[in-house]
Amino acid sequence: MSATSNGSARFLIVGPQGSGKGTQGVLVAEAFGVPQVATGDIFRANVSGGTELGKRVQAIIEAGDLVPDALTSELVRDRLAQPDAAGGFLLDGYPRNRGQVDDLSGFLAGRGEALDAVIELEVPRDESIARLRERAVQQGRTDDTEEVIANRLAIYERETAPILDVYREQGLVVRIDGVGSLDEVTQRIFDALAGRGLVAERSGGNGAAA
Ligand code: AMP
Repeated sequence: MSATSNGSARFLIVGPQGSGKGTQGVLVAEAFGVPQVATGDIFRANVSGGTELGKRVQAIIEAGDLVPDALTSELVRDRLAQPDAAGGFLLDGYPRNRGQVDDLSGFLAGRGEALDAVIELEVPRDESIARLRERAVQQGRTDDTEEVIANRLAIYERETAPILDVYREQGLVVRIDGVGSLDEVTQRIFDALAGRGLVAERSGGNGAAA
């Protein structure tokens, strides 16, 4: 069950690679009782599973480039059509450019839905790079090499950061300082969402319903 007062919890989390958005996204999604939908995870699972989709996107992902919008948007539309996403969802890594923003608003509007909030996780570039280098050592992701990291951050700055302006104009963006301990950042997110009347079942404190 989703847990906000109007019963809807449709979120995006946006931040540069290495901002911790994956980890925070999982925690927020769990607290609100909605699925986290991370396009990067879905693509990687397809690559490692050797599916047709995986074969189509493998080289793109390894170069740190973006998978074409039509393919990505179709994947997300199908995922959001599953019953567990009926009451809400947390999108991580999608939309990533203007075209995808338009695709998403189009298919949400077709369902009579809209986003409730866009969580912007702010982390300085040096900090993101340091965290990505650390993750490269720990997880051995093929797209965490120096060259690919630089490409992914450049794409973020050029194509993804501007989508925040679109959502800012719609009054949807909650900006969160992403520097601090995991718990501190999580608490900042819950506090900021609660300030907009978006209260999770399991956010701990802040008058959240048990
Ligand atoms: P991530 O784990 O979100 O950094 O995604 C890993 C890779 O998957 C990206 O570098 C892209 O190649 C691809 N990808 C993930 N999400 C998208 C998206 N919304 N649009 C295009 N490509 C994506």
